Amino acid sequence: MDHFPIFLAVEGRRIVVSGGGETALAKLRILLKTTARITVLSGAPAPDLVKLADQGKITLIARAFGPGDALCAALVYAANDDAAEDARVARLARADGALVNIVDNLEDSAFITPAIVDRDPVTIAIGTEGAAPVLARAIKADLEERLPVSLGLAARVGKAFRKAAEALPMGRKRRDFWADYYFNAAPKVVETQGAAGLDAALSELLAKHLADAPTEGRVDLVGAGPGDPELLTLKARRLLDRADVVIHDRLVSPGILELARREAILIDAGKEGFGPSMTQAQICALMVDHGKRGAHVVRLKGGDPAIFSRLDEEIEALEAAGIAWSIVPGITAASAAAAGIGQALTKRGRNASLRIVTGHDMKGFAEQDWRGLARPGTVAAIYMGARGARFIQGRLMMHGADPATPVTAVENASRPDMRSIATTLGQLAATLEAEVLTGPVILLYGLCPRTAEAALPLPHPTSLADRKEEFA
Ligand code: SAH
Repeated sequence: MDHFPIFLAVEGRRIVVSGGGETALAKLRILLKTTARITVLSGAPAPDLVKLADQGKITLIARAFGPGDALCAALVYAANDDAAEDARVARLARADGALVNIVDNLEDSAFITPAIVDRDPVTIAIGTEGAAPVLARAIKADLEERLPVSLGLAARVGKAFRKAAEALPMGRKRRDFWADYYFNAAPKVVETQGAAGLDAALSELLAKHLADAPTEGRVDLVGAGPGDPELLTLKARRLLDRADVVIHDRLVSPGILELARREAILIDAGKEGFGPSMTQAQICALMVDHGKRGAHVVRLKGGDPAIFSRLDEEIEALEAAGIAWSIVPGITAASAAAAGIGQALTKRGRNASLRIVTGHDMKGFAEQDWRGLARPGTVAAIYMGARGARFIQGRLMMHGADPATPVTAVENASRPDMRSIATTLGQLAATLEAEVLTGPVILLYGLCPRTAEAALPLPHPTSLADRKEEFA
């Protein structure tokens, strides 16, 4: 270890920065998180620096760094974007007895600034002694994701509660209490009531742990997105990491299920567009049962839980059983499919609305507002539509839709095996029947892949100018 990590007391002490451009500003962003007094010297300060000075956040001296400027300074940063100037500043600052960092010059610096994850007062410093900045950034990103934003607040309030928590026997019981506080109770309380709720939450939590009462169950109805684990929300990831029980649809990809806590019970509810292997009533009963037994259940649904996934029935079952629940939105298949073919779901001059329809409902093929859908310039994301393609095509054409209307079927949107099949309404059923489709398929009606757009016939004008009169 060539560099020894320490946390330096800087409250009220001077930190001097020499430099007036982007590099200096970048350093200031992090320095301004401290309680130090910051002085910046620059003959040509950027407007943002002047603004910071006007706001009283820094002292700006509008000239180059000179002898004596680093006297009594705890730290000095040479951030001039000019090696010769940095060397001059460093020499003078050292003569004043200061510790000097030259930005991007590890060799000549007396200290380096680590990558920081800031959950003040919890601060994590990551350094690689210049060996692998990429690694430092990756570790930082990982920790940023893993540690709730509320952690800092929670730690500050928690510190004052340490004495009270000694009512719990030392060891496992006390550790469980704190883990429950930092990773369960505190993030929830901060989100719903802000920091003000933390004191009460701590007392309540302590009472609960003292009584050793089984924890209250809850069910989070979580969107798993279209399949790519990277399209999960941070919240979904965190909940998966904590859940005791994960009840998932068949559409949820294995890569996402791998993110569940190792001890979690995984239950495949097996629901698909057609023919669920577990009835909705069974799924509801399962959630209620685990919730009542005090489990934290994640009900993981493909895409967004609020789109064609019988969310209300599940919420009603939970409410009837008095079990706490929440909805965590996810990225829906339409968004992923549109992204996959390089298209926007709405576009000025093309379509000012987007219809989200299903090709199938509990009674079979779903009836829709076919007349509205058949109108030129309509764009619709048709879920569960592949098997009903012939029905959809027939209905739309019967209502006067142009057979040349583009339709793109996207299979396995966002997944490595994603495939898009561009066709027209007139050819839709024949095209899909000729394909072997094994994954989930969404039909983007009225959209063709961006690459095919140039060849597009009217009535799907691609430029605003074409439809000027409609917008006049
Ligand atoms: N709640 C889900 C939709 C559930 S209905 C969401 O918001 O995406 C199931 C249908 O969604 C499938 O039949 C298919 O039409 C569509 N779908 C889900 N994931 C998909 C994917 N990765 N690629 C293409 N279509 C998908």
